[in-house]
Amino acid sequence: MQERTVVIVGGGLVGSLATCYFAKRGWKVDLYEKRPDIRLSENAHLVEHRSINLAISERGFSALRKLDPDLELAVKSLVVPMHGRMIHSRSGEQISQAYDVFGRHINSVGRSALIRVLLDAASKCPRAALHFCHEFVDADLDSGLVTFLDNRGERKSIQADLVVGADGAYSKVRQRMMTKVKMNYMQTYIEHDYCEFSMPPVDGDYAMNPNHLHIWPRGSFMLIALPNMDKTFTCTLFMPWAQFEHVRSSGEIEQFFRDNFPDALDLIGRETVRAEYARNPKGSLMYIKCAPYTYRGRAVILGDSAHAMVPFYGQGMNCGFEDVEMLDEIMVGALHRANARSSNTSELTDEQLHQALDEYSRKRTKDASVIVDLALENYVEMRSRVVDFAYMFRKYLEGF
Ligand code: FAD
Repeated sequence: MQERTVVIVGGGLVGSLATCYFAKRGWKVDLYEKRPDIRLSENAHLVEHRSINLAISERGFSALRKLDPDLELAVKSLVVPMHGRMIHSRSGEQISQAYDVFGRHINSVGRSALIRVLLDAASKCPRAALHFCHEFVDADLDSGLVTFLDNRGERKSIQADLVVGADGAYSKVRQRMMTKVKMNYMQTYIEHDYCEFSMPPVDGDYAMNPNHLHIWPRGSFMLIALPNMDKTFTCTLFMPWAQFEHVRSSGEIEQFFRDNFPDALDLIGRETVRAEYARNPKGSLMYIKCAPYTYRGRAVILGDSAHAMVPFYGQGMNCGFEDVEMLDEIMVGALHRANARSSNTSELTDEQLHQALDEYSRKRTKDASVIVDLALENYVEMRSRVVDFAYMFRKYLEGF
């Protein structure tokens, strides 16, 4: 029997993990990424197009572990555990709120380090080939002919049994699917943007307690900080974009920090606050809900391309990793059922693959929609409810 081929579009966090999973199950995998290989030093800056670091939780680790326990260990060697959140008041007091009485926690990991580990794992898969500087431009999803444009402007088409869209929130694979499927689709920008600042070490050590996610909740806006392995913190200011418009000059941002986050201003440094506010991009935030995620066993979307979400629950990537794990479980389950019924085969038929992908889409669209809502709701929690004592007391009483 001819080996099954899958084209994965997007070599980000989710696409590189999906590459490893498909290769493990015997598929011939071609991964296409529009950017250059960020593992090469001259391209290192390209990965920092969004947050410098992010929170990885058990949901994400589970997907790594099920693929390869050594991969989970490799990623765990790159994290800083965050056992709770540290709330900073305007006057500089700090209150620690543990995440869990049993010590379960989330972890801060550098985006760049994580993607490198995943791309390394994908390039070590014997059945996978990685193609950088190849932008997906079109696909005939019925025939499986997928077309890319390389960095010399040349078009290249390749044939695949399955197309996986892991090409992020502005997914072109999803756009292509929408011309074939009755897909419900909703994309919503929230009114808040974000801007990052770096907090250096003090005397060679972390400037604040490293085992917390630090939050400066201020009602309609907030500052957060996650620790990095190099003893720095990455701080992110989330604020309505209209308010960003009012804070224009370097003097205004310094004064804004002085009024709202004086302790953070001291630790980041006034020069850095001024320089980074001027230099760093103001990123927008949006979420996407769509359904279904598949087209007739010929295409499926994973990660942000299916369910981009606001970052306040720290679950976008984790949820994308879980997509890959769940898709794998469903496809393996379908294969076991096929083998139990009749033929001893190592591959699903077209019809069985179609059914497996539909099952995935049915289950996953429901879960993802809930997580997208929870992420949105957690913004209110982080920027105000964490200091709303009436709310906290009510929550406490609800526990009885
Ligand atoms: P992406 O990371 O967007 O990767 C898509 C890839 O596809 C990219 O490499 C891109 O170059 C490539 N691509 C795009 N179009 C094409 C094309 N036409 N052809 C070929 N390649 C293409 N998540 C968490 O779990 N925890 C957090 O703490 C967290 N914090 C966040 C903080 C911020 C400020 C933001 C903005 C997001 C955060 N997230 C977090 C969400 C997380 O970043 C995303 O969920 C995750 O990056 C999604 O991975 P992905 O691979 O699906 O998409």
